[in-house]
Amino acid sequence: MKPFEAVCVPDPETVARWRSDFPILREQVRGAPLVYLDNGATTQKPSSVIDAERAYYEHMNANVHRGVHYLSERATDAYEAARARIARFVNAAGAEEIVYVRGTTEAINLVAQSYLRPLARPGDEILISAMEHHSNIVPWQLVCEQTGAVLKVVPIDDSGALDVDAYARLLGERTRLVSIVHVSNALGTVNPVARLTSMAHARGVPVLVDGAQAMAHLPVDVRALDCDFYAFSGHKVYGPTGIGVLYARADRLEAMPPWQGGGEMIRSVTFEKTVYNAIPWKFEAGTPNICGAIALAAALDYVSAIGADPIGAHEAELLAYATAALRAVPQVRLIGTAREKAAILSFVLDRVHAHDVGTILDHYGIAVRAGHHCAMPVMQRYGVAATVRASFALYNTRAEVDALVEGIARVQEVFGQ
Ligand code: PLP
Repeated sequence: MKPFEAVCVPDPETVARWRSDFPILREQVRGAPLVYLDNGATTQKPSSVIDAERAYYEHMNANVHRGVHYLSERATDAYEAARARIARFVNAAGAEEIVYVRGTTEAINLVAQSYLRPLARPGDEILISAMEHHSNIVPWQLVCEQTGAVLKVVPIDDSGALDVDAYARLLGERTRLVSIVHVSNALGTVNPVARLTSMAHARGVPVLVDGAQAMAHLPVDVRALDCDFYAFSGHKVYGPTGIGVLYARADRLEAMPPWQGGGEMIRSVTFEKTVYNAIPWKFEAGTPNICGAIALAAALDYVSAIGADPIGAHEAELLAYATAALRAVPQVRLIGTAREKAAILSFVLDRVHAHDVGTILDHYGIAVRAGHHCAMPVMQRYGVAATVRASFALYNTRAEVDALVEGIARVQEVFGQ
């Protein structure tokens, strides 16, 4: 399956209209217009998200689920309505399958500690891939230390595509969970998650999908993917930082013990016995990020209003354009050239450290990420210390790709190439 069918690439006027929704894109950086190509790290926010935050604090700020007063009821209604909107966006069966967390990292840790840790035994296996972000490696290593379980890693080929045959071989009697990234932040690879899930389910193995990068680029339908868990962060899909979601099938959540204890997650407490709240609140101890949840729903509404197809078509076109442009630059090597890719381009420049590239590009107002992208094993797989990463969003343009290519030429001049 292609991540996007280039049905109708939006015209430049349409993209200009989308751009105008993002106030920060009007910023000048060091005297040049901002060229923001670090969307894999975090996306910029449209006015509707900023307005939702402002409206929350101006008109409904109160704690949720606690007060009997008007503002608390308003905040609670908005907070729970946001949950229902998020559930619809990812096509969950119900709002109770949406657990608010701080982000992808916390969602994965929640599953690691609440779902896997209680059932993992020495020698049990957790299957991840060689292209995972540290957030989808370290939580499992902690469970391995705590239980004696073992981490198994599915290799990738030179293009950055998952070795599905190796995956099939590694899915074994002892596999207790597959945890796999939907879109690699370091390579851009889009994994065939529905296929991987059905292969795991055929062996009775549940699947967690790390959707941190996928949400902004792909239409995500958790029931079509048939995954047990899906984790994502608001800030990578045009929403605020500090809010994210763990989608989990209701039966999984029902069976899982709470992870953190405190207010909100209880029905009643005595010193002898505490009765836990229903799902999803059982997993939401303490005062939540109320404003963040409401603004995240506003972000997803924004994406829905534009539509996954136009965004996908635009980004696919931009990726093809940028890939061809960078391939034409001497001494540039692309890292991650899988057939199924989202709009993320990692590359290295001969004899120039990625940090130097990033720093020089910044002088021209071009924001890219330079480093290991919290995916050190990916760097090791390709024998590089770091890459430069240009990651695109719906508001990026061909002109910005041209600026990047010109910027790289400046870098090469500085290094006498
Ligand atoms: N997984 C992937 C693939 C990511 O790209 C990221 C962040 O870059 C994360 C997980 C962690 O997301 P967060 O820092 O929002 O929890």
